[in-house]
Amino acid sequence: MEGIVGKVFDEFPTESNWDVVVIGAGPNGLMTAAYLARAGAKVAIIERRYEVGGGLATEEILFPGYYSNMHAIYHMMVDYMPAIKDFNLDRHALVWIKPNLQMAMVFGDGSTLLLTRMLEDTVDSILKFSQKDAKAFGKHAHVWQRMMDEIVGPATYLPPKPSLDLIVSMQRTEIGRELLELNEKSPLQIMNECFENWKYDKWSYYTLHVVSTEMPKYQCDDPWANESFMTVIGFESTDQVVAHWKNVMKGKLDKNFGGHVTCESFWDPHLVRMPTGKVSFFQMHAPYDIEGGWEKRGQELQEATLDKWHKAAPNMKRESIMMLNGESPVDIEIRFPNMRRGGVKHGDYTPMQLGFNRPNIECSTSKTPIEGLYLCGASTYPGGMVTGGPGYIAANKVAEDIGLKKWWKPTRLMEKYIKTYLE
Ligand SMILES: Cc1cc2nc3c(=O)[nH]c(=O)nc-3n(C[C@H](O)[C@H](O)[C@H](O)COP(=O)(O)OP(=O)(O)OC[C@H]3O[C@@H](n4cnc5c(N)ncnc54)[C@H](O)[C@@H]3O)c2cc1C
Repeated sequence: MEGIVGKVFDEFPTESNWDVVVIGAGPNGLMTAAYLARAGAKVAIIERRYEVGGGLATEEILFPGYYSNMHAIYHMMVDYMPAIKDFNLDRHALVWIKPNLQMAMVFGDGSTLLLTRMLEDTVDSILKFSQKDAKAFGKHAHVWQRMMDEIVGPATYLPPKPSLDLIVSMQRTEIGRELLELNEKSPLQIMNECFENWKYDKWSYYTLHVVSTEMPKYQCDDPWANESFMTVIGFESTDQVVAHWKNVMKGKLDKNFGGHVTCESFWDPHLVRMPTGKVSFFQMHAPYDIEGGWEKRGQELQEATLDKWHKAAPNMKRESIMMLNGESPVDIEIRFPNMRRGGVKHGDYTPMQLGFNRPNIECSTSKTPIEGLYLCGASTYPGGMVTGGPGYIAANKVAEDIGLKKWWKPTRLMEKYIKTYLE
């Protein structure tokens, strides 16, 4: 056996000569392993599935020939992720698709609202609704961008500070003070909250993956919406969004849901290995414990989703759908038991589960009280999504503790953040 496939692991080894064993080949585990391996450590990764990538994996779920991004597809932090530069990933054919049109909202009467990377385009789109709002958006967007560049982005890749220390250092700058003001909860409220058991989100996602003959074409007043990375459909008002959210919190879903759609193969044609067909998905917030149970409600929801999609994009008729596959929060949990209750962030964002408290004050810098055991996944600071933050912070901590020479340096924005808020 050894001659053919190399040395196979014993199922329950009592000892090993690996310097580091990473459990789980999700984005964070892979990131920790890559940094430490390049620093000279002998690293093994153990993954319970046959596929690597965790919540970032692309899989041929619409078999045969059509690949879908089952989980993460919108990667909000790539501009800040140190690994891109550290590993020269741009040079290794990794391409991040960054459409100017990030999000479109299509209303029932065909009017559209567009959110773009080019601020001016967004402002133009809001102008159709309100001059005052367009002006206000333009003003706030600059401040929010600074908050991302100067605080939120770099802080994602540095160990957390205790909440109060962080608040004090945020006071050093105007932008820091503005960010604090945005924060709804006062430090006193946070301290007064008693420590509770780990909480999982009350929401997860229901996703309908489809292969259709054409990409969705929306009935709307701005044809550019058809090329949006994400298109929101089904919602007509803030009240409806709030009502849907309240439903989800109560374990309900009625016909008034809305969600977002992405035609993945428009951006990544490699997902289609057949002569025809476009791969898209419709995704919406949904409860894990749904009234009536997912087994019964799944089919009904699939039909309702197709109806809604067809109404917004008339070419998404039943005859145009070549294959489809609905994924409920229960399906997410079956695939990834670590995403308990379909929790995409491995645990709710409550004040007691954020920052220095994630997952608790003893482990949020990734080191745990158990010697040699470190955490590097989304249940640890800074949390979920494909930020690579937990993996990067763990790699730094392990390297320091086992005496590896770090071959990487903090990014320029991280250095500025360290000087301004941490020193
Ligand atoms: C439907 C859905 C949509 C999402 N959309 C987005 C998005 O658009 N953008 C975004 O940024 N994020 C998104 N997310 C969240 C994102 O996928 C996760 O937050 C992210 O994958 C967390 O990375 P991780 O490496 O910490 O853990 P995971 O990606 O969960 O990886 C953990 C790995 O460990 C393995 N594992 C677990 N237990 C064991 C064990 N005992 N032994 C060995 N291996 C084990 C698992 O199989 C898995 O491969 C989405 C998630 C879901 C479910």
